Amino acid sequence: MALIIGLTGGIASGKSTVARAFAALGAPWVDADDVAREVVMPGEPALAEIAERHGERVLNADGTLDRRALRDIVFADEAERRWLESVTHPRIRDRLVEHLARIQASGAPYGLLVSPLLFESGQSAMVDRALVIDVPEALQVARTAARDTVDEAQARAIVAAQMPRHERLARADDVLDNGGSEAAMRRRVAELDRQYRGLTPGVRPQTDGV
Ligand code: ADP
Repeated sequence: MALIIGLTGGIASGKSTVARAFAALGAPWVDADDVAREVVMPGEPALAEIAERHGERVLNADGTLDRRALRDIVFADEAERRWLESVTHPRIRDRLVEHLARIQASGAPYGLLVSPLLFESGQSAMVDRALVIDVPEALQVARTAARDTVDEAQARAIVAAQMPRHERLARADDVLDNGGSEAAMRRRVAELDRQYRGLTPGVRPQTDGV
């Protein structure tokens, strides 16, 4: 059985970059964002339910989900956000469970669940350990503005709306400080890779003094 590591962090902390570095060392992984997109693809029951509730305004001409239109609706209406989560979250969870079962059966010593909402969504219950990718907020803002089509003020607003850095760190079993170079990040990934290969699932070291 593979050890399952939950890899999380705020926007532009480097989750995808770090996951690729683990993958280069042979670790299988599943990205919760990819799965969240899969469950609302054309032909999926969740998309049919969303279209039935909100009509054509949430569909593109080709029948795919207009994610921006849906995002605008749920940003403005808490009850709609909860409804949407009730439609999508159980399906995301079921599919993640399938992916993780495949990782566990793969023979790899460990694998990754990459999720921006590992703690917020309850997905942390699916993993053996939580690895937090940590960067100072100023760097998060700069990397978001450099990567996405948002300015620094918008990037700051996104960071401010996410789980505070200290809360994420408080829940971490392991931390990767990604405030340095990519080479430094890869060295830390190699170190964690050695650590994870030496751990057995279900035998979590006590880190909190309990
Ligand atoms: P996330 O998946 O957490 O949103 P990404 O992996 O996409 O973050 O990284 C955000 C941006 O920061 C990307 O443009 C990436 O190339 C860059 N980046 C990530 N890690 C580093 C690093 N150690 N040094 C410099 N740039 C980095």
